[in-house]
Amino acid sequence: MDAARDRFTLEIVEAEDLKLLECVDTYGYTCHGHECGIQVFPRSYRLENLLRAHFFAKASHTSSCDVVGEDDLRSRGKKGSVARELETGPGLSPSSLQLVDTRAIVNGQVMQDGTQSKGGSRTIASSGETRQRPVSRRPANSIRPICRAFMEFPYDRHLPLHIDGIQTSTYQMVFKRLRSEGIEVLPRQRIFYAELAWQQAYEATEGLVVPLNAGEWHEKRLTPYCIVVQRTRWSQTARTRLDNELEIARRENMAAKKTKDARRTYAFFIGTQNPENLSHFVVNDQRLICTVHGKLIFPKQQ
Ligand SMILES: [Zn+2]
Repeated sequence: MDAARDRFTLEIVEAEDLKLLECVDTYGYTCHGHECGIQVFPRSYRLENLLRAHFFAKASHTSSCDVVGEDDLRSRGKKGSVARELETGPGLSPSSLQLVDTRAIVNGQVMQDGTQSKGGSRTIASSGETRQRPVSRRPANSIRPICRAFMEFPYDRHLPLHIDGIQTSTYQMVFKRLRSEGIEVLPRQRIFYAELAWQQAYEATEGLVVPLNAGEWHEKRLTPYCIVVQRTRWSQTARTRLDNELEIARRENMAAKKTKDARRTYAFFIGTQNPENLSHFVVNDQRLICTVHGKLIFPKQQ
């Protein structure tokens, strides 16, 4: 399971985001499936873990739980549309990106916090009362679950997706792949993506430079598109998480290629193209960059 419900705040949290917390309450999470709520436990959530974080259950899910069918839904989703289930399911297909919605408790006070909850603080629901679980598609707090849905449900990219600042409104149109047919001018904001390069990310004066396996070929040399992550205002934890994720991603990508696996690792981001260096896209928010490992499928047009 990639996500679970925080039993205190009732919010659905991404396992990968536990890496941003100073301390993780391993008993603080339950299954967010329909009428389920069994206890689930986080695994590989420590910052230094070079594995992707996830939740696992020790007990059986209830018979009505739809999370238990997620893997089945994912495998069916690679062969055809599962839109009806995504529209009512536990949240595998987010409907929008909602960045400013967390409130952190600091010293007993509730404070607006648009960034992230810091160590020791917890996010809480806006009222202290139990909230109804959403019955339809939910917003996401970062692009990560959105990008996973894009990869996992290729036949359902017609589903609506709203992101502030992006003028298009379906999965199909919100995502834009960076190609290897020359450096394009891309003034319209999208979720851009490309396969991660084998070359490691490196620090430069302008930020952390993440090379992609796309760009412009010239005499057998690629001038790659790069993500330039400007993160001077990030916490050390957030910086380390990104460093580690990029290294996990790079290794799993190389391993897949070597074993002739069809899966690859893709970097996704919302960023601004540098007008002075069109191969560079600047990203400055940790919630707007992620990697996803999987098979990229483009269904044939009907
Ligand atoms: Zn469950």
